[in-house]
Amino acid sequence: MNAPESVDVVIVGAGFAGLTAAHDLVDQGYSVVVLEGRDRVGGRVFTGEIAGVKVDLGGTWVAKEHDAIRAIADQVGCTTVKQFAEGRSTLWLAGKRSTYKGTIPRLSPAALVNMTRIQMALDKLAKTIDVEAPCNSPRAAELDAISLEGWLDRKRARTTTRALMTIVTKVEFGCQTSDVSLLHMLRTIRAFGGFDHMLDAEGGMQDARYVETTQEIAVRYASLLGDRVHPNSPVRRIIQDADGVAVDTDTAQFRAEYAIVTTATEHRAGIEFEPALPEKTQGLIRSWGLGALSKAFVAYDKPFWRADGLSGEALTDTGTVFITFDVSPSPNGPGVLMAFCDPRVFDVHQPETRKAQVVKQLTDLYGPEAARPIDYIDHCWNTDSFARGGPNPVVGPYATTRYGSVLTEPHGRVHWAGTETAGEWTGSMNGAVLSGQRAADNVARLLPATEPLDRKGAYS
Ligand SMILES: Cc1cc2nc3c(=O)[nH]c(=O)nc-3n(C[C@H](O)[C@H](O)[C@H](O)COP(=O)(O)OP(=O)(O)OC[C@H]3O[C@@H](n4cnc5c(N)ncnc54)[C@H](O)[C@@H]3O)c2cc1C
Repeated sequence: MNAPESVDVVIVGAGFAGLTAAHDLVDQGYSVVVLEGRDRVGGRVFTGEIAGVKVDLGGTWVAKEHDAIRAIADQVGCTTVKQFAEGRSTLWLAGKRSTYKGTIPRLSPAALVNMTRIQMALDKLAKTIDVEAPCNSPRAAELDAISLEGWLDRKRARTTTRALMTIVTKVEFGCQTSDVSLLHMLRTIRAFGGFDHMLDAEGGMQDARYVETTQEIAVRYASLLGDRVHPNSPVRRIIQDADGVAVDTDTAQFRAEYAIVTTATEHRAGIEFEPALPEKTQGLIRSWGLGALSKAFVAYDKPFWRADGLSGEALTDTGTVFITFDVSPSPNGPGVLMAFCDPRVFDVHQPETRKAQVVKQLTDLYGPEAARPIDYIDHCWNTDSFARGGPNPVVGPYATTRYGSVLTEPHGRVHWAGTETAGEWTGSMNGAVLSGQRAADNVARLLPATEPLDRKGAYS
């Protein structure tokens, strides 16, 4: 091992949280290194290619209000495209296919009344949640003592309401309604701007995506940091004493005044801390594990479903695929459908079987033309060899009130960032950026003052 390199701050993780923290510190004149365990930057954003079109295998959409991530994308010259949502959406529930307009599917009058009642109750409760400190919310203990499923039982949710709520927890967290506490669900609804905003394309969380892909934003943003970013550098150990921190990878040691760890809460467990983390933080790591989610993309000559008046958006409670979206680059083709897949019945299979499952379901949803794809790819986040998981932590009953208070509490010289530690927009790319900004501000306040570099000077 070479002599340790010394910087002001070591940042662990080159997702949006880590890259933002690094930029903010560099802008203020501090020296940083970013250590990333994977061979690429971006973390939970990752680009794939199908039929010559770049697609987002992980994080995809931004809402209009996502100013923080949008500012970075603007800085590096990436451009949004509205999520295609024209036409009717498709619903496959209990073996029956139908189409509908708007956010809530066309249901029988009784099912619609039930769904609307549950949604209104969730929105009302979500308004009482303190997103920054959910354990301080007025009824936190009571709301955290029950799973979403337990609450749906209590509210006499009908089968259809349960099926739709399961689709929501599968896509937001990568889990079932029984796995997540009501409090965590409410925090997410609040952080995502309300139930409709969470699920809507037009004007909601799925409003727009990036032509160049979201990982391309991260790649370009990381390139501005030059050789401060070290891929293939999993951090194994962080030792701290009164003088600073020593951060070990397999091949190098870095010394710094402070460290900012931006991994998902679960992946903090991959690092040995000396002195050891307090019991409450260890409990957080144990109980805030990521869910699991997989995505498939199927390409066709043209987005043929549009000619049938369909938006390419579908919800289904049967089989592997549970949501689809149209992410075609143009009406002239190729047509590309993005399908969210349930990892429990998807990841175990070989690629050919996975493809056959997805194509069969798309054929049920969109007709015989869907049986003739020209290309296919998928990505199973829970089988990644490093930092595996899904979109967000599955936070079960009691885990927020027991451990949530330490989400951002520094461990001496080690500070925490990552989308999980954000308040507003927690669980999104925008939340990741906001968390990186917060951690960088907090650490900069502890460091000796410097002459801020102008932006051009900082990166030269
Ligand atoms: C399938 C999927 C769909 C999603 N859809 C959306 C969406 O449409 N819109 C949206 O806003 N968000 C979406 N998200 C969530 C969004 O991608 C994340 O919130 C965001 O990218 C998290 O950024 P982060 O920097 O906090 O964490 P990450 O991106 O996870 O970055 C943390 C980094 O730390 C690294 N790391 C872990 N352990 C170590 C270690 N020991 N040493 C060194 N490095 C380490 C990891 O490899 C990773 O690169 C989705 C996520 C997934 C998986």
